[in-house]
Amino acid sequence: MTVLTKFRRVYLKYSDVTIGKNGNRLRSIISAMINETLIEIYQLLLDHFGPQHWWPGDTQFEIITGAILTQNTSWANVEKAIANLKSADRLTPEGLYRLDLSQLAELIRPAGYFNIKAKRLKNFINWLFDNYQGDLANLESMNTNQLRAELLAIKGVGPETADSILLYAFERPIFVVDAYTARIAIRHELIEPGADYEQLRELFQSNLSEDVQLFNEYHALLVKLGKDFCRTKKARCQHCPLGKLPHILDPEFL
Ligand code: SF4
Repeated sequence: MTVLTKFRRVYLKYSDVTIGKNGNRLRSIISAMINETLIEIYQLLLDHFGPQHWWPGDTQFEIITGAILTQNTSWANVEKAIANLKSADRLTPEGLYRLDLSQLAELIRPAGYFNIKAKRLKNFINWLFDNYQGDLANLESMNTNQLRAELLAIKGVGPETADSILLYAFERPIFVVDAYTARIAIRHELIEPGADYEQLRELFQSNLSEDVQLFNEYHALLVKLGKDFCRTKKARCQHCPLGKLPHILDPEFL
C-alpha cells in the first residue's frame, strides 16, 4: 500500500476530527507514515549504491562555483571548467572578482551556456563583495532562512542552486530537490503530479529529521537512482533497488 493510499485511509478515518488537537494528531500520524516510507527508500538506496561522497569539491567556494555551473550540463563538463579556473589560479572569490566577464566566460566555456553562467557567477561574487566583504566566513553566522532568501534574490540563482549551496557548501539542513526527486516521488505516489519545488522540498524536509548528513546523502542517492534506473523513458523498475515498493508509471513510459 502506498503512502498516499495510507494517507487517504487515515484521512477518512479521522475526517471529522481534522481540527484542533485531533487535527494535530492526524498530521503526526501521516508524518510518521511518510517518514517510515522515506527512511525505507533511503535505506534501500544506501544498501544498493553505498555512500555517494557528495559534493565533490576541495573548498567551500569550489562547491558554490560547481553548484552554479552545473545547471543544464553534465558534471564532467563542470569539472573541466573548474579545472580551468584552478589552473588559472582563479578559483577564489577574489580571483573571480578580479576577472572581467569575458575572461571568466572563456575559462568556464566547457560548462556550456558560458556567457550566461559567467554572469551568474559574477552576480554571486558581486553580492558577496557588496554585502559581505567578499568573505564567505561572514555568511556563516547568518540564519538559514535569511541566507536562503538572499541567495534566491541573486539573479540566476534558483531554488535548486541556492539549496545546493546551503546544504553542501554551508552544511545547513535544507533538502535539495531536482527533476529526479520529482519523478521518483511522483512515481512512488509520495506526492501528486505537478507538485512544485517547495512542495517537494517540504515533503522531505518536514518528514525527515533535520540532519545535514542524511539530506546530503539522500539527495545524492536520488540523483544516482534517477540516472541509473528511474529514467524518463524506459524506467528499469525490474532491476531497481526500489522495484519491490509500490509505484506507478505513466503508460507511455512503460
Ligand atoms: S525505476 Fe521504477 S522502481 Fe525504480 S524508482 Fe523509478 S519507478 Fe521506482
